[in-house]
Order: sequence, then structure tokens, then C-alpha cells
Amino acid sequence: KSSSVGEGRKDSSISFNDIGGQEIAKNELREALEFIKSNDKLKALGIRPLKGILLNGPPGTGKTLLAKAAAQYTNSVFLSASGSEFVEMYVGVGAKRVRQLFTQAKQAAKRMNKHSAVIFIDEIEVLGGKRGQNHSHQEHDQTLNELLVQMDGMTSDDEVKVLVIGATNRSDMLDSALLRPGRFDRIVKVDLPDKKGRAHILKLHTRNKPLSAEVEIEAIARDTFGFSGAQLESVANEAAILAMRDESKEISPVHFKNAIEKVMMGEKLDRLPSA
Ligand code: ATP
Repeated sequence: KSSSVGEGRKDSSISFNDIGGQEIAKNELREALEFIKSNDKLKALGIRPLKGILLNGPPGTGKTLLAKAAAQYTNSVFLSASGSEFVEMYVGVGAKRVRQLFTQAKQAAKRMNKHSAVIFIDEIEVLGGKRGQNHSHQEHDQTLNELLVQMDGMTSDDEVKVLVIGATNRSDMLDSALLRPGRFDRIVKVDLPDKKGRAHILKLHTRNKPLSAEVEIEAIARDTFGFSGAQLESVANEAAILAMRDESKEISPVHFKNAIEKVMMGEKLDRLPSA
């Protein structure tokens, strides 16, 4: 995924309604976002602002979508970056990029007349991994320190409020400094969807597709145990491609069946050693 450090107008159109399942994550996130929305009340009571939320869960479960929906919900600009973009050989470069990201967020918000910005950092364990371990790397430590400095510097008086949303599937690797109060205060679990969640995701990804009357979303949800949202999106897309190959105007159960197999196979192939 490339970084989309910019306004991402298209991104802001993702809402919580576009995300299937993940009811607990959505609720927890929305509850946390109320803090951002009621900044003035917090200020009056002297409550410190919520600065960071960590989304923790396997790949393809909708963490990026949740961050985009959070930006939309709070009428914030959305910027995204990946932890790996900050990994550099030269000391100080990563730290400089972190500073630039926060500056860009504030500038973009002002330009668009918004009072807040969401900075989404995917694979945050790469940037925020435990200091002084493995990579006894000075550069890594400086980059992480800069993120902490930026987050510590944020106050409820800032003209543009910044919320950092980090995503990881390795929260065990995170430096404990990141999890201290005033940094990533909230950890939201984003798990693989259950059957109900899978049905919801499948409905979302087939809403603009012609399905034959025999297609039962519930049955497809049952047959896709362990699939992530990204894989379910793939199933819907593959099924449509198979229907096209058959020169069929509608997608039928057999197209879904074959699409499920294809997506499962694809996963297996990905895991085979490349020889
Ligand atoms: P990664 O950790 O690999 O970055 P992620 O958790 O951020 O993954 P997303 O990028 O949000 O996952 O999801 C990838 C795609 O999968 C989405 O663009 C969407 O099409 C689909 N998807 C994943 N989860 C959901 C969901 N809960 N509801 C609807 N679509 C989903």
C-alpha cells in the first residue's frame, strides 16, 4: 500500500456503514471519537485529549477502513502512512518524516477548513517496535522518540487536533512507551469476522452485483469460515469474473463456490515457498 499523504477526498467518503461486521470495534471506536467531537467540554473539565488509538488484528480485517471512517465521523482530514516508510538507514531521516507528517496533517486541515486530522499509521510495530532490541539501531529509536514527542506535544488548545490511529497485527512487539497514558490510550481489537460479520461484508460487496435468485448469502458466509474481509471482497469479485466468463448476466451459487475455492487456493499458493 502506498502512502497517501494528502487530503484523500475519496477516502473521506468511507463511513462506518460501509464496514461489515466489526460491531464491537466500531462501537469502541465511535465511543472514543466522541472525545474528539466534544473537545470543548473536555477542555472545560481539564480532561486530557485522546491522542492515539491502536487497532490490533490480522491483515485485511478492515483496519484501514475503520481509520477512514473515523476521519469521516469526526469531519477530519485523513492522512496515511506505513511504519515501513520511516525506516531509513540514515539517522534523523525517519524522525524528520514523522515531523513532516504531523505538519502536513495540520496544514491540510487548515486548507480544508477542518479542525481535526486523523493520521493513520499502518504496520506501526515497524516504527514503534521495542527500542534497543534486535535493531540496536539509533535511527529506529530516534524515529520512535519523534512520534512520542509529537504525541506528547498535542494539547486540547491546538488549532488543529490530531488523532493518531495505529494499526498492527503484532501489538506484542510494540514499545511499552507507546502504550503509556496520553499516547495510544485505547486498543481496539479487530478480529476476523464471525458468520454474521461475513454475511454483512458479503452483502456490502455484492450490493452492486446482479445475483441470481438461488444465491444465499448466509450459505456463502457459512462456507467462508476464517476468511478476512479482504478475502470476502475477493470472493465477490472473483464470482463476478467467473459469471462474465460464462457469459452469464447473473452470478450464481456455482460461481461463488468456485470463487471461494480460488481464493482459498490463492492463499495456499502465497504460503508455498518460492522455489
Ligand atoms: P492490512 O492490515 O493488510 O492493511 P486492513 O485491516 O487495514 O489490512 P483494509 O485495508 O481495511 O484491511 O481492507 C482491505 C479491503 O478488504 C477493503 O478495502 C475492503 O474492500 C475489504 N474489507 C476488509 N474488511 C472489511 C469489512 N469489515 N467490511 C467491508 N469490507 C472489508
